[in-house]
Amino acid sequence: MIYSGGDPEHGNWEQRWHPLRQEWVIMAAHRQNRPWSGVVHEGTEHSEVEHDPDCYLCPRNDRVHSRVNSDYRGVYVFDNDHPCVSMHAPGTLEKPTGIYQNRPASGVARVICFSEKHNMTLARLPSPGMLDVLHAWQSEYTELGSKPDLDHVLIFENNGEVVGVSNPHPHGQIYATNFVFNTIDIEARAAADHLKKTGSILFQDIISAELNDETRVIDENDHAIAFIPYFARYAYEVYVAPRKTYSSIADVPDDELIAFGQILRSVLVRFDNLWKIKFPYVMVHHNAPTDGRTYDGFHYHIQFHPPLRKPGLIKHLAGPEIGGGNFLSDTNPDEKAAELRNVSSTHYLDAD
Ligand SMILES: [Zn+2]
Repeated sequence: MIYSGGDPEHGNWEQRWHPLRQEWVIMAAHRQNRPWSGVVHEGTEHSEVEHDPDCYLCPRNDRVHSRVNSDYRGVYVFDNDHPCVSMHAPGTLEKPTGIYQNRPASGVARVICFSEKHNMTLARLPSPGMLDVLHAWQSEYTELGSKPDLDHVLIFENNGEVVGVSNPHPHGQIYATNFVFNTIDIEARAAADHLKKTGSILFQDIISAELNDETRVIDENDHAIAFIPYFARYAYEVYVAPRKTYSSIADVPDDELIAFGQILRSVLVRFDNLWKIKFPYVMVHHNAPTDGRTYDGFHYHIQFHPPLRKPGLIKHLAGPEIGGGNFLSDTNPDEKAAELRNVSSTHYLDAD
């Protein structure tokens, strides 16, 4: 066997602790420029038409099972026609043998359209429309979270073909489940442990650290802040958070919610402006579980996980991430935050 030792450049090459996920992230930014000869993924084109007769999310159009969308304006929420969890999931299951376990896939899966306009995006939604979306997220969390069988409400948006969404109609999803999703479960435990040990809120300590450092803050106002954390796993992993600690979006008062929406939009617009494409991402709300326990140290926020690390170049999850369960980051969070800070907060398609 021939062993050939590496000769990497120095710089941002270290391991950083991810306090919310309780895991190490390997930062290896010196690998960012390594050669790539694979497939190049472009962003999705912005749609041209306001109403697409073939879109199952546009007003008045047919969905499956002879369901028809109403002639809606603004936000429109309906139960997912192809749910992964449902209150109607089979309740009587064949028991597996040996050590294996199963249980009913019960829950509620919903779709939330952000606008009746097929060519709208969350980034370009006018302020009243953004507030309507924020209010809808609040009411869905409150309504679904109050059901005794539902322990958690996962609110998210998959945006772009790279993350598997071919329909450009602006929409997100809601999975209210009989279990707490793993990321939130770990984060809730981390927050509770931190509160017990230090008497302080974990996410507040993260915000303080980012404000002290300043290099990774992207935008802020009186009530909200956006930053790429020190321990980011994805190149453009932006967190958007209220400054005050609320365990869920439902508890954020309206004046703070409006300010939060402004910072959220600022991030979405900067994403699109970065490479002048409809920037693909997975956006996830981190709300406290709804299993009846108290979550004092839990700080509601949104996390973005954009799959691209360069124009057209996807961050592939492979051996370390899928196999090992820890992330290898090829980029420097300080540099990526500066890129987003330095682009305009006016959308390139709306600029004069
Ligand atoms: Zn549509």
